[in-house]
Amino acid sequence: MQASAASLQAMEMSFLGNTLDRQSTRRDDKPYIADLLSRPETEIVLSTDRTLVFSAGSELKIGHDLEAAKSLGANTEEMVFLGIRPETGQALFATTLPHSDEDLEQNQDLQILDLRTLALQSTFNPQDLGALAQARALIHWHRTHLFCSQCGVKSEMAEAGYRRDCPSCSAPHFPRTDPCVIMLISDGDRALLGRPARLPEGIYTTLAGFMEPGETIEQAVRRECMEESGIEVGEVRLISNQPWPFPANLMLGCVGKATSRDIEIEDDELEDCKWCDRDEVLKMVKDTHPEGHKIPPSISIAYELIMGWLENRI
Ligand SMILES: [Zn+2]
Repeated sequence: MQASAASLQAMEMSFLGNTLDRQSTRRDDKPYIADLLSRPETEIVLSTDRTLVFSAGSELKIGHDLEAAKSLGANTEEMVFLGIRPETGQALFATTLPHSDEDLEQNQDLQILDLRTLALQSTFNPQDLGALAQARALIHWHRTHLFCSQCGVKSEMAEAGYRRDCPSCSAPHFPRTDPCVIMLISDGDRALLGRPARLPEGIYTTLAGFMEPGETIEQAVRRECMEESGIEVGEVRLISNQPWPFPANLMLGCVGKATSRDIEIEDDELEDCKWCDRDEVLKMVKDTHPEGHKIPPSISIAYELIMGWLENRI
């Protein structure tokens, strides 16, 4: 397929458009939160561990009303307050369904969808997609942090879902956001792209990795790049960031200048890593690469970094 010039324009990355008023100072106001929950226009996002659950049929809405959520068996004891839509005043909550995706798929009235697919298909506007990212990250955290990490007793939701407290040792626990560095490393004329085995066939992308405790962003970029490619990096600049709720990452998009050239893969993160000149990257973007290599889809910060480098914007 020959891409047109228009399709080479970077679309906006996904999950940046959350405009909910989170009202973080009111989360402890239980009567207020209960009142919001009881309003007929309030919507409740339902999530299993990995997927989101929607009503099938007419227009796809991100949530269900309270009665519908209850009838599906939603956990109404632990409701996470996401925020208020600024344009309508409507409240959004999220909670979990105690069913497997397989069981839910038997219900013809439901659609079980993965957030990545929703982003790729542009099913929802950026505001709703951002709210779903918030919901998915928080629900995943609650589902996987049911017990106190200090004493092992079952913890209880507090602050309308932004804390879990231990009733035994009183330890408070807070939702995780895990920062990851993702970096376009260049030697000027070429970009360093790698192929993690987990990605769909043919996709080459920017290097990336989790930050470690006690590291700066620059140090993490240099360490990860050395581990994955053997390339030394000098100057590093942070240029953008993106919530990436799979399950709870914050991607820190950087550019870095390579100070060495010889690739040597030291860990098993990548099955291939190579220097690509602009002509080769353009072929990847246009889907005309002779070996079928491609760059990631436009929902990701990797796409934004690669296109930014290709177009001399970063
Ligand atoms: Zn405890």
